[in-house]
Amino acid sequence: MSSVVIIKDSFDELPKALAFIAASHRKVCIVTDENVSKLYAEPVISSVEALENHTFIYEIKPGESSKNPETVHCIYDFLIENRFNRDDYVIALGGGVVGDVAGFAASTFKRGLHFIQVPTTLLAMIDSSIGGKTGVNYHGLKNVIGSFCFPKLIYINKNVLSSLPEVERANGMAELIKTGILSSNGFNPEIEKCIDFKKLITAEDPDDEHKRHILNFGHTIGHALEEYYGYAQKHGQCVALGMICALDISASRGWISSELVDELRDVLAQNGLKTCIRIPDPLKISELCHSDKKIQNNRIQFILLKGMGNPVIAEDVTDEEILKSLEAINE
Ligand code: ADP
Ligand code: ZN
Repeated sequence: MSSVVIIKDSFDELPKALAFIAASHRKVCIVTDENVSKLYAEPVISSVEALENHTFIYEIKPGESSKNPETVHCIYDFLIENRFNRDDYVIALGGGVVGDVAGFAASTFKRGLHFIQVPTTLLAMIDSSIGGKTGVNYHGLKNVIGSFCFPKLIYINKNVLSSLPEVERANGMAELIKTGILSSNGFNPEIEKCIDFKKLITAEDPDDEHKRHILNFGHTIGHALEEYYGYAQKHGQCVALGMICALDISASRGWISSELVDELRDVLAQNGLKTCIRIPDPLKISELCHSDKKIQNNRIQFILLKGMGNPVIAEDVTDEEILKSLEAINE
């Protein structure tokens, strides 16, 4: 279940990492998107071929619109056409969309091929590539079809972040700041620290039954905001606003100081994230919180804070508290 995680500043050690997990003399399908392919397919292909593998490349269209069962079916067709078997490998080279789609295809094709993640966005490096979740959207429902699939190898080349568009960097920064708060590593933790923390929490609760829920800090209102804006606002942006609300509720309960909320706002703004947004219908947001998939026994689950590194799972947050916290982010 546990993955080998290698974090470097280049692809130079990818052949060695592939050799370590015995990915040689096999078929390897690199699933990537058109943007990432142009930038980074070449060094990954040479690394794979250095181990005498036979490489295939499958490109998807970039972006969330590719995260659906049709894309998975096309990958199945490609694997069937090229006679892939259970001993063969799928490498996801790209952001979270590529990782989720390729991981779901790899984990279900012939009941599971070997899977490797080479994440290229900040969000995928610290969040979606770690923890073994894959999935696609279906009939407008986010991640509603998916599987647990722990990659054999996660190879991170931090240098690829130099080409990441600013808006994608900000998207990842929201989750990085979230991890810093949860792990008590400050507001700007190193990528390595974020990965260690996610690995630790995931190992304690691989099936996402309880402990792992703390990773949903900022996500209860965050998911509601994503849905409210028809997914026109990025996930990280909505989580950023959701974290302000969660801290605002924690401060109103007297658990943390209001200065901590201000500090969070400053850090988010410095990283290109909005700290307020126009919410014409706040009641709708509290309604959407009730339909969040993390809801347990009809109680909304919130991750609140009793201090840096001290998250608590709360199931007693009232609609009044939610509405009041929305005032903290409403323009
Ligand atoms: P995530 O789900 O991790 O936020 P996506 O898979 O949706 O990310 O990718 C976001 C966008 O960034 C896509 O258009 C993708 O092609 C592009 N992208 C991914 N990694 C890089 C990179 N290292 N440099 C430039 N663009 C990238
Ligand atoms: Zn998230």
